Amino acid sequence: MRFQTVTGLASVEDVRLADGHGHVWIQPPEGAEVRLELNHPELIELELKDFSRAGGTTIVDCQPGDCGRDARMLVRLANATGLQITATTGFHQRKYYPTGHWLWSATATEAAKYFVRELTVGMQETDNGVPATTIKVGYEGSIEGQTRILMEAAAEAGRQTGAVILFHTEQGKNIEALPPFFEERGIPPSQLYLCHVDKRPDFGLHRELAQAGVLLGYDTFVRPKYKPEKNVWRLLEAMLAAGMGDHIAVCLDLALFSMWKHDGGEPGLVTLPAHIVPRLRTMGLEEIEIRKLTGLNVIRRLAQKKEVL
Ligand SMILES: [Zn+2]
Repeated sequence: MRFQTVTGLASVEDVRLADGHGHVWIQPPEGAEVRLELNHPELIELELKDFSRAGGTTIVDCQPGDCGRDARMLVRLANATGLQITATTGFHQRKYYPTGHWLWSATATEAAKYFVRELTVGMQETDNGVPATTIKVGYEGSIEGQTRILMEAAAEAGRQTGAVILFHTEQGKNIEALPPFFEERGIPPSQLYLCHVDKRPDFGLHRELAQAGVLLGYDTFVRPKYKPEKNVWRLLEAMLAAGMGDHIAVCLDLALFSMWKHDGGEPGLVTLPAHIVPRLRTMGLEEIEIRKLTGLNVIRRLAQKKEVL
C-alpha cells in the first residue's frame, strides 16, 4: 500500500513512527482574526531532524490552504529532513481566515471542486502539482450554516477521491453527530478521523465510535492542562483493553512554537519517540501495537485515497 506525501508516493511499510496530527509550518494570512505562527525555517528544520534521528519517519500536517499552509515549505522541509510529510486541503475554523475569504460564501459545488483539485491535480500554491492527502474539516460542534455547506463539499471530495476526512473538534464536542452525517452521504466511518477527542475522555462514546470504524486522534499526552495521567493515559488503557487498538492515533499537535525545543519551548517533537513510545512499552504493548498507535493506524487509512497518476 502506498500513500501520498508532498514528495511523492511512499510505502506504508516504511512508516515507523508518525505524528498523526502534526504541524510543520504555519504562516497565517494577513487579516486573520487568530494568528498562530510556525514559520522559522531553520528552527523547524533542526527540530524535524531531531525527530527523525530519534526514530520519527512521518508527519501528517493538518493546516489547510489559505489559513497558514504553504505546501512549498512542506516540500522544502521534507526534502531537507527526509521525513514523509502529508498535506491537507479542506477548511479550518473561520477565525483563521481573512474576513471575506471566498470559502465562507462558496457553494458546496465550488468548495468540492477546489478540494478535489487540490487532492488530484495539486495544491494551489504548488505550480509543480503536489497533491494533498487528506481533507480537513474545522468542526465546532454544530452542523449548520456555512460549516454545513463546506462539510457537504468535504463529503463530495471524500467520495470522489477516497481521501480521509480529518476533523478539528472542539474537545470532542458533539462528535457523535459526524458518522451519521457522513454515512448518509456515502462516506464510511473508516474514512473519518476525529482529532482532539481525548479532551472528552468518555470511554463509552470512544468505544462506540471505534466499534463503528472511526479513527480517534489523542493528543494530550504531554499537555498538563488536560491532566494526562488522569485522562488520556487511562482512556488509552481502557480502549486497548477493549480491543480498540486499531482505532486510535497517538499524536502531538504541537502547533505553537512555545512547544518546540528549538525555540526554547517544551516538550518538542522528540517527546514522541523519547517519552511517549517508551511509556507505551512500559504498558506491556507489543512493538506492532505501538507501531499501529504511532503511525500505521493513520497511514493505512490515508492509503485508501486513490493514487494520482
Ligand atoms: Zn492541529
